[in-house]
Amino acid sequence: MSNSSELFARAQKRIPGGVNSPVRAFRAVGRTPFYTASAKGCRLHTVEGAELVDYVLAWGPAIFGHDDPEIRAAVQTAVLAGLGFGTNHAAELRMAELLHECLPLIDKVRMTNSGTEATMSAVRLARGYTERTKIVKFAGCFHGHADALLVRAGSGALTFGHPDSAGVTPAAAADTLILPYNDADALEAAFAGVGTEIAAVILEPFPGNVGLLLPRTGFLETLRRLCSHYGAILIFDEVMTGFRVSLCGTMGLHAVRPDLVCLGKIIGGGMPIGAFGGRADIMDMLAPLGPVYQSGTFCGHPLPLAAGIAAVEKLRRENPYPRLEQAGKTLAAAALDAAQHKGIPLQFHQCGGMFSFYFNANPVRNLADVMASDTAPFKKVFQYALDNGVFLPPSPYESAFLSTAHDTAAITQTAEVLANAIKTL
Ligand SMILES: *Cc1c(COP(=O)(O)O)cnc(C)c1O
Repeated sequence: MSNSSELFARAQKRIPGGVNSPVRAFRAVGRTPFYTASAKGCRLHTVEGAELVDYVLAWGPAIFGHDDPEIRAAVQTAVLAGLGFGTNHAAELRMAELLHECLPLIDKVRMTNSGTEATMSAVRLARGYTERTKIVKFAGCFHGHADALLVRAGSGALTFGHPDSAGVTPAAAADTLILPYNDADALEAAFAGVGTEIAAVILEPFPGNVGLLLPRTGFLETLRRLCSHYGAILIFDEVMTGFRVSLCGTMGLHAVRPDLVCLGKIIGGGMPIGAFGGRADIMDMLAPLGPVYQSGTFCGHPLPLAAGIAAVEKLRRENPYPRLEQAGKTLAAAALDAAQHKGIPLQFHQCGGMFSFYFNANPVRNLADVMASDTAPFKKVFQYALDNGVFLPPSPYESAFLSTAHDTAAITQTAEVLANAIKTL
């Protein structure tokens, strides 16, 4: 078989940038990306035969590690019943009931094919329900690549939409108001100004796409209070954090509840999926009951549902979160200890089955703080780790993920590699 650099050179001729999703090009870490031949447990096997302890985990879904036997068996059974029906089938109901049991605020739910579709549809639904146009998002929060959400303000100031990607028209982004995360005063000011025009506020309650940020005490509570007071729909995007930081996503760790929640990643058991759900009176605005349109040829496809149901049922049975948290703490301790010995400022954020770290002397609470962190050491740590059998996310702005397949041997190996990587800085 060809090696990774040959494959990547050929791929660049036929696939833009050689990749089907940009961060896979490894540009932020200055390396040629490797090609995976297979994945099992916490390990990836490259086409060269190298074995890597994986902290990307298919960008989050593989919470039991790769190729979990139970999930695989569920998919194999489902395949024998047919590769997709385009009609109703019982697994759709099972998933809807399961999600309601885990997150009771989900009175009703619709399945989609990706997280992007879920957030896009949730925003459309909120606009249809409220008959308002403006939405609020926070700088640094990522909600997939729908036009209205692909916007991030250049500054923390109250700025009306400046598109972040070429091809997003100013009109598509004009009704998107960008605020700094963790800034309750900015939130109060925005609502005082245009509160009655705001259809929805969408956020990752714990942003995971700028590394991992955690909310300051009271921030989410303020947000809930303002949304309720002004009649804006609060949407939690838990595509990443859902079933990752607890069985209830971030909602297992704080008391604030949204009107709608978006899910994805883990609930597909490794296959493509998304979902949005919440209050019945809002969800019933969707066609065929109401005027808000949303649909999809593959929505509720039996294979992702089979994988996802197996994954969610196994998570409920095993509650692996304390164990994942412990593994994360071991890695944090090793990294912080090495950094302290070297006199290198390091912030290590960790929650349930995810973590990230920043080379920054100050607390990291929002996008501006993230951008003030030093990226050069991250690049070196990434490269050292990869050369020593550990695959960290190939960007300082991606969260790393843990799985139940990361056993003591893998965590010990990683703790050592991380510490040694930091010692070489
Ligand atoms: C991954 C992600 C999305 C997009 O999901 P896709 O399935 O990649 O479309 C949306 N929101 C958050 C928070 C995510 O992490």
